[in-house]
Amino acid sequence: MAIVLITGANRGIGLALVKKYAQTGATVIATARRPDVAGDLSRVAEDYRPAVEIHQLDATDSDSVLALARALEGRDIDVLINNAGVLNSYGDISDPAHDWAAWQQVLMTNTAAPYIVTRALLAHVRRSGAGKIAFISSSMASSARAPGGAYPYRASKAGVTNLARNLATDLKKFGIAVGAYHPGWVRTAMGGEGAAISVDESAEGLFERINHLSLETTGVFEDYQGNAVQF
Ligand code: NAP
Repeated sequence: MAIVLITGANRGIGLALVKKYAQTGATVIATARRPDVAGDLSRVAEDYRPAVEIHQLDATDSDSVLALARALEGRDIDVLINNAGVLNSYGDISDPAHDWAAWQQVLMTNTAAPYIVTRALLAHVRRSGAGKIAFISSSMASSARAPGGAYPYRASKAGVTNLARNLATDLKKFGIAVGAYHPGWVRTAMGGEGAAISVDESAEGLFERINHLSLETTGVFEDYQGNAVQF
């Protein structure tokens, strides 16, 4: 039975992934910054009991990351999904929202935190023997397709995609496959009500793509339907 760890699992795409994996019989380690106020996640855990475990994780807090790694000591993780993310603003270079604080928060959450979380949980993924690590990036990471605007977010997602690509090389020796994924334009707090697809469509597609990930396809950057995204 696969063990899957998902960051940012209390809402949006992360929550839909929890449901999808639980439905397929996996054990899901669903992490949230504030489990005490994660009502939707608690209800999903109740519905799929005992498949879903809830753990605290603020991906930008090193004590929280280390506490999670310790709490899971001795356990395998077959699939690690770095999903948690933030978007501050779509504005262009005149947008005052793109200040130091925003850069710091967006780069720390979307780029550095997935690295730190992956490093902290690497021993658990190695124990799996055939572990996989998925980074939920965005087509907005693409430098080939560069429409401007949303600078901190685009840079952070380009960064995490680069990270995924390099980790794919580095972790192949441990039998770990790594992929970066565009989840689609999804109706969540981040994607907005007018977005193209539901969280369930996105989670279904991501589930299929992560199942397809292997040492032969490691380093892939693709969308939830399996279309390659330009770097
Ligand atoms: P969302 O609904 O805004 O949810 C974001 C999730 O990330 C929440 O669970 C949030 O937790 C969590 N999070 C933020 N900062 C965190 C931190 N420091 N530590 C732990 N968790 C943290 O967003 P979404 O649309 O589901 O996005 C999920 C992923 O898909 C993100 O990486 C996003 O960039 C990517 N993506 C989304 C779209 C889209 O159209 N929606 C498109 C491309 C890529 P709290 O509830 O505690 O804030």
